[in-house]
Amino acid sequence: MKSLDGFLKQIGVVHSGYSKVEGLVPENWRDLHYALSVFYPLSKPILRDMGRGDGPTKTYFAQYRALNALINQTCLQIGMFLEEQGFEAVPVPASQTVSDGLDIRGIFSHRMAATLSGSGWIGKSGMFIHNNLGPGIRMGTVLTNKVLEVGEPIREGRCGNCRLCVVHCPAMAIEGVEWHAGLERNRLYDAKSCSDYMKEAYMHIGRGSVCGICMSVCPYNRIHEKGKGESI
Ligand code: SF4
Ligand code: SF4
Repeated sequence: MKSLDGFLKQIGVVHSGYSKVEGLVPENWRDLHYALSVFYPLSKPILRDMGRGDGPTKTYFAQYRALNALINQTCLQIGMFLEEQGFEAVPVPASQTVSDGLDIRGIFSHRMAATLSGSGWIGKSGMFIHNNLGPGIRMGTVLTNKVLEVGEPIREGRCGNCRLCVVHCPAMAIEGVEWHAGLERNRLYDAKSCSDYMKEAYMHIGRGSVCGICMSVCPYNRIHEKGKGESI
């Protein structure tokens, strides 16, 4: 029988992480105690085109959508592979909002699973920042009842004194609070203000669903040469 790691390699998954999410999944999937996270980096030139806080480009939006489609396809394949082996699996959609009004959320937090896998941490902006790839990524999750060899969870943010995303956010949506595991998302940033701004400012570029300024100014973004900890 082919191993899960072997299958991931076969379908081109380079960056992945495993976590235990027992008690953290929606009630209808409560028997799925493990999560598999996959990470895909955005193109460096496309990220570079966004400058430091210049806002999204049409090419960025095109790649954002293409990666979401690839992640959905990949997670579907992983789920089918696991079910072929007799396990149960749910691919969580890469970008899907299931709640209305003020509380803008997906069915399950990709970011939470990713931090529990030890693959990275959450910045003050609420972005997931991958240990090696930085914030310029898209990611997906497959929930499963297959027992996985999980990573060491990361429970603290690593922003330190940096406030670049806080001061550059045009919606003033980011509070400037350092993340730690269990912190409510609304203590970090106001998802409604962020979403409203994207709709107002970038409907012509990304149908109101992308902005990326907080990502492009982040010193953990691997396209910035000065590296981590740059101050404003
Ligand atoms: S995506 Fe844009 S509006 Fe939303 S928090 Fe980041 S910088 Fe602010
Ligand atoms: S820009 Fe600075 S404060 Fe914001 S997420 Fe990146 S490191 Fe953290």
